[in-house]
Amino acid sequence: MAIDIQKIRSDFPILERKIYNKPLVYFDNAATTQKPQCVVNTIVNNYYNCNANIHRGVHFLSQQSTEAHENARKTVQNFIGAKNSNEIIFTRGTTEAINLVAHSFGISQCNDGDEIIVTQMEHHSNIVPWQLLQQIKDIKLRVIPFDEKGVLQIDQLEKLINKKTKLIAVTHVSNALGTVNPIEKIIKIAHSQDIPVLVDGAQSAPHTPINVQDLDVDFYAFSGHKVYGPTGIGVLYGKEKWLEKIPPYQGGGEMIQNVSFEKTTFNELPFKFEAGTPDYIGSTALAAALNYVSEIGMQNIADYEHELLRYATDKLTQIDGLRIIGESPQKSGLISFLVGQIHPYDMGTILDKLGIAVRTGHHCAEPVMKAFNIDGTIRASFAIYNTKEEIDILASGIERAAKMFRK
Ligand code: PLP
Repeated sequence: MAIDIQKIRSDFPILERKIYNKPLVYFDNAATTQKPQCVVNTIVNNYYNCNANIHRGVHFLSQQSTEAHENARKTVQNFIGAKNSNEIIFTRGTTEAINLVAHSFGISQCNDGDEIIVTQMEHHSNIVPWQLLQQIKDIKLRVIPFDEKGVLQIDQLEKLINKKTKLIAVTHVSNALGTVNPIEKIIKIAHSQDIPVLVDGAQSAPHTPINVQDLDVDFYAFSGHKVYGPTGIGVLYGKEKWLEKIPPYQGGGEMIQNVSFEKTTFNELPFKFEAGTPDYIGSTALAAALNYVSEIGMQNIADYEHELLRYATDKLTQIDGLRIIGESPQKSGLISFLVGQIHPYDMGTILDKLGIAVRTGHHCAEPVMKAFNIDGTIRASFAIYNTKEEIDILASGIERAAKMFRK
């Protein structure tokens, strides 16, 4: 199916904006995506017409609101191909989802001396939660390295696995390099030794079809705001057998069955992991976003964004002095780069004045920057509403900035 890009663009009101009197060219999609009208409408409509706290109310609005929230859970279940809707835990985002696993899995399944394997290209949100666990348990982090192109050295994995390995926690797609990791292979290797796998899907759920049952992944996390949904809502998928086994992450209302000062019994899945009032407006708006992308088709989105990546790689590599950081043959739609000796911040500032939004810095992946011996990069990341014309504008903006610095 051909994508009707003009129709898609018209669904995103913000793309009409002018920045410094120039049309907005938004290439900061790996940080957060813009929102289609249907997502904004869902939020407004819910607050105007259907707002009431969920689960406990006998009144009409509460029941309607509860139904919308639980239907949203089913939408997420279908979007990632989970077996049961009780395997879908709403969180604040990928970060909270990984913290949940690090805490609940960590304290219940790890003993002193155990090991967790991560990769050298993790976002800080898949490094720091494990280091927090180290304050409670004497566990060790082992790291799968990547090569000079940013390709994971998967042959190292089997050498890192041993009897003490308790979990492998890997990013599906690197937000700093664009590398797509072979998670199917990693999961097969891990399961052959009975080791569960957590996949950070923050940069994959928005860009490619995901089926957690086909992958046989044990935990999968993603953020709503990166997949055209609202901020403040995300998802942890966990296999039922694991979610049953591990204890709650936070305590409070909703996650309990009975409470006394002597003893508390916990609610069933998924509520055991959803303490307090959930973001039921966020969940329904996330469902609207997932329905929106599903209607376009995740494979169509993946194909289109790959075409943008190919085009952009071709264009940018023609620029004198431009060096791409992250040249894996398997890449998602983002390009990290440097131009000569120009500081990423300076390049980002000049591009901004031309109406082009890119991200500069370490992208919350300092170990990646360290491996390349750099402080940061400029990152252009693509979404379904971006066009080749916008990539042309980016390329000429970079040329213009480079010329200014050469003078
Ligand atoms: N993991 C990856 C690979 C990311 O790119 C990000 C955000 O950029 C995160 C985790 C954290 O996501 P959030 O801040 O939405 O929790």
